Amino acid sequence: MKTAQEYKDSIREMKPVVYAFGEKVENVVEHPCFSPTLNSIALTYQIAGEKENENIMTVKSPITGKMINRFLHINKSPEDLMKRCELSKFLTPFHGACVGARCVGTGALNTLYTITYDIDKKYGTEYHQRFLKFLEYVQNEDLTCSGMVTDAKGDRSLRPSQQADLDVYLHVTEVREDGIIVRGAKAHQSGAALAHFNLVVPTTSMRENEKEFAVAFAVPPNASGIVHIAEAPAPNARRLADSDEMDFGNFEYGVHGSTLVVFNDVYIPKEMVFMCGEYEFAGVMAATFGTFQRLASSGCKSGHCDLTYGAAAVAAEYNGCEKMGHIRDKIVEMSFQSALAFGTAIAAGYKAKVTASGVYIPDDLLVNAAKLQASEACWVASKLATEIVGGIVCTAPSQKDFQNLEIAEYVDKYFKAKADVSTENRVRIARLVEYLVGQGSIVPTESAHGGGPAAVQKLGMRQANNLNYLKGRARKMAGIKK
Ligand SMILES: Cc1cc2nc3c(=O)[nH]c(=O)nc-3n(C[C@H](O)[C@H](O)[C@H](O)COP(=O)(O)OP(=O)(O)OC[C@H]3O[C@@H](n4cnc5c(N)ncnc54)[C@H](O)[C@@H]3O)c2cc1C
Repeated sequence: MKTAQEYKDSIREMKPVVYAFGEKVENVVEHPCFSPTLNSIALTYQIAGEKENENIMTVKSPITGKMINRFLHINKSPEDLMKRCELSKFLTPFHGACVGARCVGTGALNTLYTITYDIDKKYGTEYHQRFLKFLEYVQNEDLTCSGMVTDAKGDRSLRPSQQADLDVYLHVTEVREDGIIVRGAKAHQSGAALAHFNLVVPTTSMRENEKEFAVAFAVPPNASGIVHIAEAPAPNARRLADSDEMDFGNFEYGVHGSTLVVFNDVYIPKEMVFMCGEYEFAGVMAATFGTFQRLASSGCKSGHCDLTYGAAAVAAEYNGCEKMGHIRDKIVEMSFQSALAFGTAIAAGYKAKVTASGVYIPDDLLVNAAKLQASEACWVASKLATEIVGGIVCTAPSQKDFQNLEIAEYVDKYFKAKADVSTENRVRIARLVEYLVGQGSIVPTESAHGGGPAAVQKLGMRQANNLNYLKGRARKMAGIKK
């Protein structure tokens, strides 16, 4: 298997065409909008090489007979699926960001494995054998494979064939003896520019007149005709400005690193094509992928929730509040929300169904419930963490304020909480919470703390809710004399 450094070096050599904030990116590996994501993906190599983590991170491949990274594994049992879910939950607190370029790939690899098998059975095609060769190669070389599903989609009320501009759904423009030409785009592609291969599958079902949209293939992100346009969320702009490490909360890993991936008449050699025109399989391919991805995502979001309550607990400690009743209740609530998501996802793996190809697919009902709960858990955790930590989540000073001798003393003195905790550490943990709860503006924290924190409002309500009078009414109604 590759080391983290070997992964980084191999991506450095690929030089895909990438733009960020309107500028061409010369070196994606060094660019502030991508290097943190590269660090996260590199962790999946580094941790896999650590003896104590080999059980969760690696598995013996039935295809190569060698130990491989679990992200590249084909799930042939419920236990495989449960371990895959656990892997995401385990890894997320290490990076607090996204390893989508590997994570989404597991779903795409498993989907292609099972659906190419079904297509061949129906049509006598050779997609499955082609795919197996590709799979063996990526497992042997320990390659990062991103999963490309989501099309640009244009007018959401229209089908692919009804769009004013057909390019909003990726499609085949030419079939040649030796391969195909494709055109269109895939949107929100996690870490696509930092992968060795992008695995492309359809985003939805297709009809007979939409055969050209029913296409699946593998392509390197630096193939001729591919252009990546980077996401530009507000925190990324800060990375391009003259900001300091302390101002980020999660400086080393905290960038998602997605791109809009434009395919300008890209040639895909035949051996990399895994579906071309078999429209009846497009819908099941998209749906199967969704099932795998929801399992992984539920584990990942449960891990995010865990990290959030870990960070909130540190902040509470620094504030001197860790033993207060409402703080403890909130931490327990976050762990409860996280456990519900993770437990449901594990159950989805446990109740998995086997397909004709031998691949196990998570239980539909449970995996969808798990993903819904995982999303709920993250939103609840964000709200509770913001309440626990205080207004400092959106009003913390910058590293430069600590360094300017005219004001450093004030910043240090008045942002300090407990005497034995440095102000810098208090600000650092607040910044991490700012990052974890996704603050791009003051709105969420302002709504939680402007006018006083939630616990104070609850106290005010306890005093103002006329409870004694209502208790009296209740006693009287129940016929209680004394
Ligand atoms: C951080 C992040 C990472 C991602 N990573 C990947 C990745 O690695 N690979 C990948 O392929 N995709 C990825 N995605 C894409 C993700 O799957 C999509 O964002 C998701 O499917 C929603 O699509 P959309 O963003 O285009 O929203 P839209 O489709 O525009 O949806 C917006 C709203 O409109 C509603 N809507 C849209 N169409 C209809 C309709 N026909 N009928 C009724 N309601 C409708 C939706 O339910 C939703 O409420 C990622 C997204 C994010 C945010």
